[in-house]
Amino acid sequence: MANKIFIDIDKRLDEIKKLENLTNQQVKLLSTAKKINRKNLIIGNKKISAWRILFNDVLGPGKGGIRFHPEVSEDEVKSLSFWMMIKNSLADLPYGGAKGGVKFNPRKVSEKELEEVSRKFIDAFYKNLGQDKDIPAPDVYTNSKIMAWMLDEYEKKVGHHEPGMITGKPLELQGCVLRNDATAKGGFIIVKELVKKFKLNKKNIEIAVQGFGNAGLYISKMLADSGFKIVAVSDSKNGIYNKKGLDIKEVIKKKQETGEVSRYTKAKIITNGDLLELSADVLILAALENQITKKNAKKIKAKYIVEIANGPIDYEADKILFNKNIMVIPDVLANAGGVIVSYFEWAQNRAGGILDKKYLENLLQQKMINSWQKVIKLYQEKNKKIDLRTVAYIIAIRKILIAENLRGNL
Ligand code: NAD
Repeated sequence: MANKIFIDIDKRLDEIKKLENLTNQQVKLLSTAKKINRKNLIIGNKKISAWRILFNDVLGPGKGGIRFHPEVSEDEVKSLSFWMMIKNSLADLPYGGAKGGVKFNPRKVSEKELEEVSRKFIDAFYKNLGQDKDIPAPDVYTNSKIMAWMLDEYEKKVGHHEPGMITGKPLELQGCVLRNDATAKGGFIIVKELVKKFKLNKKNIEIAVQGFGNAGLYISKMLADSGFKIVAVSDSKNGIYNKKGLDIKEVIKKKQETGEVSRYTKAKIITNGDLLELSADVLILAALENQITKKNAKKIKAKYIVEIANGPIDYEADKILFNKNIMVIPDVLANAGGVIVSYFEWAQNRAGGILDKKYLENLLQQKMINSWQKVIKLYQEKNKKIDLRTVAYIIAIRKILIAENLRGNL
């Protein structure tokens, strides 16, 4: 599995090289991380691997979350930092791409140990971080409490206040009012645009959602509240399916009470594999990487797939889905709501002002729709012969290469 994810990125860049007539030098620049920082964190008598990778900072300081996970690897963090570079450029944010990771299981340690890991991460990498250098945020298994410990440790190290060095903070430490459900909100805006663009009938379409955490739960709730029919959802244990639609409020209640969506009784229990292969119209992927691969891609029946998770479809599967006429709305477009709201938080911290919630909601909507329209426009200009992921990468890469050129790096 070593370097498996980045190998896929190299394959995608190779295709874009041909489509955009890129030079070897340009491709090298796009496929090479600017700075890979790796350290061992010493926690008691254990050594834990940790990374902060700055992929590219030509458009501005690095930006991207920190993942705590027992399986995290350098290849994964590097790939995630590459995707952040693409995502930030596509969303027209003044950021490069970066990401962090710590290889341990945060669910198996005490709160005290979790705080120790968070503070030691900052002790190891604080010289590489800062509001004008590289700005972390939460990702899988990290949250606002962890951001608060990290901010506090950073400020102790540098000896001054600098809330803009990290985003996804609690409100009391200058976080942003929109943060909790920002990714889901962005994804919800994209689903509504999709429905509008392809003239789908909101009342008739069936939606299945994989993953019922921060992203999956909130997007299911927003869709159900606005009249969409969710027929299936799943978490790491099981899935549930009812063709007539699920009562999402009730599912959320069961999930919060018992930790399992399958405790909801008015549906059939299905496996995660079954959920992916349902004949729903829209499949929303909001769990993990590599969920659709060449093993199951041929069996997918949804007409549209919206990627809220990062990297849930691998390279080979992308090709199979495209040939089956299944439209994939890529992660770098569909899940950008989180980083866009992080940008609001950072801008607010730097300006020292407070931005009104309604104003920020409108701005998020505008930015998501703007990215969607850019992608659809180029897709149509390319006569629909290129998948939306490649189109999104092309838009992002064009801007990055112009900036590299303007700085005299090419
Ligand atoms: P989370 O930890 O809150 O939730 C993950 C959910 O996926 C949980 O419900 C878990 O039970 C479920 N899950 C795990 N394995 C599964 C499997 N095999 N099948 C079905 N469900 C499974 O994480 P999250 O914040 O919701 O993030 C989900 C994805 O969205 C990740 O890929 C993350 O990188 C991406 N993402 C999240 C944000 C954000 O702001 N939360 C932003 C951008 C991207």
